[in-house]
Amino acid sequence: MIVVFLGPPGSGKGTQAKTLSKELGFVHISTGDMLRDAVAKGTELGKMAKEYMGRGELVPDQLIIALIEEAMPEGGRVILDGFPRTIAQAEALEDMLKRHGKEVNKVLFFDAPEELIVERLSGRLTCSSCGALYHRVYKPPKDDMVCDLCGGKLLQREDDREDVVRNRIRVYKEQTASLVDFYRRKNKLISLDAGKSVEEVYEELKRLLKDGG
Ligand code: ADP
Ligand code: AMP
Repeated sequence: MIVVFLGPPGSGKGTQAKTLSKELGFVHISTGDMLRDAVAKGTELGKMAKEYMGRGELVPDQLIIALIEEAMPEGGRVILDGFPRTIAQAEALEDMLKRHGKEVNKVLFFDAPEELIVERLSGRLTCSSCGALYHRVYKPPKDDMVCDLCGGKLLQREDDREDVVRNRIRVYKEQTASLVDFYRRKNKLISLDAGKSVEEVYEELKRLLKDGG
């Protein structure tokens, strides 16, 4: 089963995908996490992606498609989080899956208004060690700026600064939002109200992902 999490930055895709992978055994593939890891390690990919990410722009399709070709597992239940983000990526994904007799089964669209995602991104804190997600208001850590899970230091992502956030939202509208119609036309789109609490969204997702799809 292959599930795509589609939605604007800050709509809660990573938060839900991390819990679903821990509790229900989904393989969580986040192109954003993979790219940040590549930047941190200073790999060739990281060097090529760094500038785009810092500006809140999309990394070129061919780099992302190569990354996904490598990361996609043979089987199992997979959540693609933050991929595809362009029609070209969605078409490449379709071709790649078709070669293995597979397809995207469901696309969960995290629907959230702009004010809400700006508020979520400006308060987001990320563990520099294990990648766990927090929010200054909605999910504060027990100890200030320390990860509850691993004791790592919490940081604000560089691209969660307000000017970059505005650019990421613009890029989402220009390059990614058309995927909503792309998947709706294929009868794969399921919209959910991403403005609800983390627990409510999680329950809804569990319900929607229960049947084999
Ligand atoms: P995305 O992966 O879509 O960019 P994240 O999962 O990183 O979004 O969530 C962005 C921020 O919003 C994080 O700080 C997270 O803790 C917080 N958050 C996620 N879901 C909710 C929710 N349902 N209610 C309140 N805050 C949330
Ligand atoms: P995210 O963690 O999903 O918010 O992604 C962070 C940044 O990584 C984005 O702003 C892009 O620069 C880059 N990125 C992540 N996924 C993709 C993708 N599928 N296509 C292009 N760029 C991506």
